[in-house]
Amino acid sequence: MAASLLPPANQILSQSKAHTLSLLERCSDMEKVKQVHAQMIKTGFVRDIIPASRLLSFCIATSNSCSLAYARMVFNGICQPNTFMWNTMIRGYSNSKDPKEALILYCQMLHNSAPLNAYTFPFLLKSCANLSALEETQQIHCQIIKNGFGLEVFAANSLLHVYVKSGCISSARQLFDRIPHRDTVSWNSMINGYAKNGEIKNARELFCQMPARNVISWTSMIAGCVECGLFKEALNLFQEMQVAGIEPDNIALVSALSACAQLGALDQGRWIHAYIDKNQISIDPILSCILVDMYAKCGDVEEAFSVFTKIEDKSVAAWTAMITGFATHGRGREALELFMEMKKAGIKPNEITFTGVLTACSYAGLVEEGKLIFKSMKRTCDASPLIEHYGCMVDLLGRAGLLKEAEELIETMPMKPNAAVWGALLRACHIHGNYDLGMRVGNILIKLDPGHGGRYVHLASVFAAAGKWNEAVMVRKLMKDRGVSKLPGCSLIDLNGTVHEFFAGDQSHPNTEEIYYTWDRILERLRQEGYVPTTENLLLDLEEEEKEAAIHHHSEKLAIAFGLINTNPGTTIRVIKNLRVCKDCHTATKLISKVYACEIVVRDRTRFHLFKDGNCSCRDYW
Ligand code: ZN
Ligand code: ZN
Repeated sequence: MAASLLPPANQILSQSKAHTLSLLERCSDMEKVKQVHAQMIKTGFVRDIIPASRLLSFCIATSNSCSLAYARMVFNGICQPNTFMWNTMIRGYSNSKDPKEALILYCQMLHNSAPLNAYTFPFLLKSCANLSALEETQQIHCQIIKNGFGLEVFAANSLLHVYVKSGCISSARQLFDRIPHRDTVSWNSMINGYAKNGEIKNARELFCQMPARNVISWTSMIAGCVECGLFKEALNLFQEMQVAGIEPDNIALVSALSACAQLGALDQGRWIHAYIDKNQISIDPILSCILVDMYAKCGDVEEAFSVFTKIEDKSVAAWTAMITGFATHGRGREALELFMEMKKAGIKPNEITFTGVLTACSYAGLVEEGKLIFKSMKRTCDASPLIEHYGCMVDLLGRAGLLKEAEELIETMPMKPNAAVWGALLRACHIHGNYDLGMRVGNILIKLDPGHGGRYVHLASVFAAAGKWNEAVMVRKLMKDRGVSKLPGCSLIDLNGTVHEFFAGDQSHPNTEEIYYTWDRILERLRQEGYVPTTENLLLDLEEEEKEAAIHHHSEKLAIAFGLINTNPGTTIRVIKNLRVCKDCHTATKLISKVYACEIVVRDRTRFHLFKDGNCSCRDYW
């Protein structure tokens, strides 16, 4: 019997199947895939599980909306998809703009009684996380348990992630406690959940118990502290991280730098910058922005500018950070120039940029320029001015003494004016001595913001300045009756990498005695220069002498005294204050800069004051 010249039929089939698979393997784009697909339809391999699965996987891996739609078309043509194919499609949709489709597919999967496996859940749960679909998550959680996948650490971690992302921290913790073989991912998710939810104590507790911490664990803790306003803790953790030999990632660096910015911790900020350079860490756009912001907020606007000029591809955020930096330092012209340059470079300003540049005009008294920019907003930014921008304009007009115009702007603005807008007008009334308008605005303010102690204090001082003592006392009494208290003043000073904190009348610092003694010596010298304490802003129910004692121990005075003790003569002293500087502290600080021949930089709630030779950069206008 003569042997057939042709190989047996099944061998031909498997050879051409291998050929199809290798063709698929070599595909580099969707066009090639479509050609192979056409061939598969001709040969009938499209109904074969293995090539069909490969085809789907390829489309999903390409991961764009066209390839996903193509995959769906292929998938819909398969009459009995297997679990792998279902899972592939769910994975595709979990990463898409339409994660809901993953949940719908899952329902169809259950409806068709397709068997589930452990790989079905992670991407399904990822879709839930993207949708913040808590109810669906709970249902899926039940099905995971019912199907016996509950103990798989990666399914559990996916679940944990959804609970954390949806803010369901107690469910997350219950699950966390039940996972038998927790890995670093489980610990990090839980710590991250607590930190994001503001439960820093719980986060810290887990962090301490954690068997092995990686960079994500440290970063979660540091970022969490920053979000909760615990800036000193954030920096301490950052230092501990170095000691533990863990190299920080960009997120940790950004968090630590923003803590420095808040605390005015210039030395530590510089150290981190040097660390980035030394380790040749690539400075991404977020990191470059935060560096500019940190230097500007820590009072070193020159260094901020030097970092800014080195950024190659300046984003709108970078321009905005620099413009705002110049603005808070009262360097309006430079802010304005930069704004023009930015527009020339073809970068479209956003709302925050406008807030920055309008603030700059306001602080520098550039009234006409500010008005023009405000008018141009709609044209340049395609957006109507927001309430913040109206606030800036009221401040700008008010500072310039154009109180009537400022009031008119408030009356004609398209939204309801908020306390910040009225507050700007009240400050202007106070500065320009228009007490009638001031009293009216002050009354609106305490109605609008009845829990804000500063509003009462401000109105009382307007009454006092107008000589209406009884009214002033009544406002103070109203404040007391309502149980409203004023935020205590707090000043920070960074010395050799340690941030020291002072409250008004604070006696908790270990060197308290020396600080108070020094302040008394400073006071003697200021008196020789003709300094008379200004007590008009103080509590009216205090005796004159007590008022003087209280005013002498304002937090920034204690911080400056501490700075003078601990630095060489002539060193620049930098202080960060949480409230506006009061008139008396401003006068005293000006004199100190002259008598002690040193520059003093004070950042208050809204801006910088550079005290030098008896003057301040704000030109007594703040
Ligand atoms: Zn003060
Ligand atoms: Zn000033």
